[in-house]
Amino acid sequence: MARIVVVGAGVGGLATAARLAATGHEVTVFEQAGTVGGKLGRYVHDTPAGAFHFDTGPSLLTLPEVFHDLFEATGAKLDEYLDLTPLDPIVRHVFPGGGPTLDSCADPAEFAGRVGAAFGDQAAGDWQRLWRRAARVWDASHRDILRRPVDSPLDLAALAWRLGDLAAIAPGRTLRGLGRRHLADPRLRMLLDRYATYTGADPRRAPAALVAVPYAELAFGGWYLRGGLGTLADALLTRCLDLGVVVQTGTTVTRIDAAGGRVHGVRLAGVAAPVPADVVVANVDALTLYRDLLPSPRRLAGLTDRSLAGFVLLLGVAGETGLAHHNVFFPRDYDAEFDAVFGHPGRGVRARPASDPTVFVTVADDPAVRPAGHEAWFVLVNAPRHGTATGAVDWRRPGLADAYADRVLDVLAERGVDVRDRLVFREVRTPADLDAATGAPGGAIYGTAGGLLRPANRGPAAGLWLVGGSGHPGGGLPMVTLSAQIVADAIGPDWG
Ligand SMILES: Cc1cc2nc3c(=O)[nH]c(=O)nc-3n(C[C@H](O)[C@H](O)[C@H](O)COP(=O)(O)OP(=O)(O)OC[C@H]3O[C@@H](n4cnc5c(N)ncnc54)[C@H](O)[C@@H]3O)c2cc1C
Repeated sequence: MARIVVVGAGVGGLATAARLAATGHEVTVFEQAGTVGGKLGRYVHDTPAGAFHFDTGPSLLTLPEVFHDLFEATGAKLDEYLDLTPLDPIVRHVFPGGGPTLDSCADPAEFAGRVGAAFGDQAAGDWQRLWRRAARVWDASHRDILRRPVDSPLDLAALAWRLGDLAAIAPGRTLRGLGRRHLADPRLRMLLDRYATYTGADPRRAPAALVAVPYAELAFGGWYLRGGLGTLADALLTRCLDLGVVVQTGTTVTRIDAAGGRVHGVRLAGVAAPVPADVVVANVDALTLYRDLLPSPRRLAGLTDRSLAGFVLLLGVAGETGLAHHNVFFPRDYDAEFDAVFGHPGRGVRARPASDPTVFVTVADDPAVRPAGHEAWFVLVNAPRHGTATGAVDWRRPGLADAYADRVLDVLAERGVDVRDRLVFREVRTPADLDAATGAPGGAIYGTAGGLLRPANRGPAAGLWLVGGSGHPGGGLPMVTLSAQIVADAIGPDWG
């Protein structure tokens, strides 16, 4: 049995803690915020009509078997903790200029039929060809990358080259290039491009292998958790506590002691005595780890390509609008949006909020999250991360957040959904707010953007491990949960 400290109670930290406690280790989690869950955040707004409950982070759960595996590994059944509801449509896509909408679903033949009905037979055939290719990429990446530990970026590069199906992975090609090659219809290309943003990346730079992302969503389904996605954080916390994990919120780790090439423990803010540990699992962003907790300037060099961030509106809406659970309203010029939110630091072009952005609206049809006769809207727009560098925006600039919130509501109205005079209240969350709440540098949603080469799970000192969205295998709830499995398996029951 080892004494293990987990730094951060995000999904990756809690999932690792539960797995390690289930194998007999003594585990303590230190979380700087007052609540657990990290980016899987929640917000409740009381009104005379009743309470509105919002997820402030994830709204879509994919790859549910990853979560079933997690609960099983800790001696429990997921269904006893969470109420998984499959979504159809998973996402309603609304394209510029009117015309048919396209509802995605988890039945590939049915979805191809919907593509055909909306855009014609050629579009359906194109999609099916892309889909076959995506299946090969998924098979290769799931088997050879996602569930394997990665000790160094070189390992991952080697692994990628060993993949059976290099043609399917299309090394060197971007997701945009793959779309251009397979899809004639510009609306399907937009739909494919959007999946790059699931990893915080620009489709014009993101690797074609990311076609595995829509494959995972559309082959295995998209799910809602009744009561909100935040119930996953509650369930993980309960599992941890039942297994004897000590979870200490409001406790910031200021340093990891790693003299002599192995970890000895951590230091806490405001506490003089060090906390001894045989193993430390860092669930903080890799940038925070290497910059603040364990200064290692060499490792910072590879962490400059940060993911984009999100600008969020939480809206109490009077009446019922008839929107789907997830709705995407695409802009006329998708590239103008990517140019704006990423900027062009190399050419001195500053990032800025997009004036005509894609708008993602989530409206859960769940009486548990809104008063009768009302809707709780989560509105998400791609945004530059917070900061003063060329590729960032200072979201604390007076007036900016409110002015941009007005702009997003105007854009929605221009696209046919005007709720400006039906708002009971509106709350704005900028990338600066996410940074402050969760320690995500600049409010970047997915840490290091988009590629396969992410920071390794094994840290630079013996007994130090990285778990969570900024490391291997990547961001998003299923990926960080897989990272917890990889790390817990690598530590094993017999450490030390
Ligand atoms: C707006 C938004 C929408 C999203 N949508 C989806 C979606 O629909 N589907 C999906 O699957 N994913 C989505 N994601 C991504 C998903 O939320 C994340 O990938 C995932 O929750 C990250 O988990 P993590 O384990 O990396 O930890 P994080 O959530 O980053 O947690 C890290 C924890 O460490 C704590 N911490 C930081 N520094 C310290 C310190 N020094 N000491 C102690 N504690 C510290 C933080 O407070 C935090 O609780 C979304 C994210 C956002 C923000």
